[in-house]
Amino acid sequence: MNAAMNAATPDAAKRADVHAAADATPDAASHDHRRLGRELDLFDTDPLMGSGLPYWLPDGAAIRHTLEEFVRGRERRAGYRHVYSPVLGKRELYEISGHWAHYREDMFPPMDLGSEQVVLRPSLCPHHALIYRSRARSYRELPLRMAELGGMYRSELSGVLGGLTRVRAIQLNDAHVFCTPDQAADEAVAALELIREAHRALGIRPVRHRLSLPGAGGKYVADPALWERATALLTDVLERSGVPFEAVEGEAAFYGPKIDVQIADAAGRESTLSTVQIDFHQPERFGLQYTGADGAKHRPVMVHRSVIGSVERVVAHLIELYGGAFPAWLAPTQLVLLPLSEAEVAQAELLRQRCLDRGLRAEVAGPERGSLGARIREARLVPYQAVIGPREAVDDRVALRLRDGRRLDPLPAREALAGIGALVDACSAELWDGAPAGGGVGA
Ligand SMILES: [Zn+2]
Repeated sequence: MNAAMNAATPDAAKRADVHAAADATPDAASHDHRRLGRELDLFDTDPLMGSGLPYWLPDGAAIRHTLEEFVRGRERRAGYRHVYSPVLGKRELYEISGHWAHYREDMFPPMDLGSEQVVLRPSLCPHHALIYRSRARSYRELPLRMAELGGMYRSELSGVLGGLTRVRAIQLNDAHVFCTPDQAADEAVAALELIREAHRALGIRPVRHRLSLPGAGGKYVADPALWERATALLTDVLERSGVPFEAVEGEAAFYGPKIDVQIADAAGRESTLSTVQIDFHQPERFGLQYTGADGAKHRPVMVHRSVIGSVERVVAHLIELYGGAFPAWLAPTQLVLLPLSEAEVAQAELLRQRCLDRGLRAEVAGPERGSLGARIREARLVPYQAVIGPREAVDDRVALRLRDGRRLDPLPAREALAGIGALVDACSAELWDGAPAGGGVGA
């Protein structure tokens, strides 16, 4: 895929409004998320915190928080329940899971703690397996869908670290579905559908689906029957979902094959965003069980899946996709209030508070920041700009300017906030519902 991929797709054209600012500079360099991240005050790094350990500034944190709540909401609707588990675990835990034997070179060295050793976790699966195992489980509880947006760590070499895409501390949107063998394919199909819906809402267009199989080398758990069974299942899942895919050797997890949903960055480099995996290995290693309808003990299957991947990678991708001109629901500042003069500042502050009370992210850019034209230019990535002149201040109205250049006739403030709020709540890619009230297109 080339660098202009995003601007060239028909969908991108349909989303012309959200791309207005982005399309002005569609080259890869200007869309590099590292550069935009710094320019837009979204995230940064400090050599004292260490490379590969970015921190999030308030605007970046607002995007991240919104995304996290978005994905949690989608998961709740799909029958997942959320847990929290710690980012550290005893070394024995990863010996049982197989990470210690198959994945150690990607893990941070263990920490000595008295007579035991603890490690920063390289994945969330072992913790979730233990949570499953902590209670007696019946077939009636299955499929049990356990989700967590949790931290995990990878000891990447400093040479390959950069921005949000290669990091050492990862916040993963993860889940494990514990189910009967008969339920596994349906759960994987449902997970793929959840991924597809989330991508659609976010405007993400995957470049391809990959069936990732084991390759040569000792990285993989040796159990040919298990691999065969899981691979057949995932192939069936992909075929049932009607998604074209390519089988690629050497990309599987050490414990099983996976479906990888691939995206490309502004420079055309491909990476995995979302995954669905079928795992017969860890249920075995952890001795997971459920009581079947026959009263006997059975082994569940674990379906691992990530809808938006790591928060770091998906935010990096969205920064490049939108060039900083995020859809209103994701935008760090959704509405900027522009009092014409000092006389309207108090009204603007009141309106800002009403926005905050309604859950909207709003800022006031007062006359001390320059002329109205200068303030409008400065806020060009903000989806909504509300100009408040003397008339609007008295009547409690606002004259809305949309980021795509449309200008609406002055509206009662209540109506404007309700309109924006409804689009934000719906995660809409549109800036306004229906035809503009007047004013037409123009800057
Ligand atoms: Zn997992």
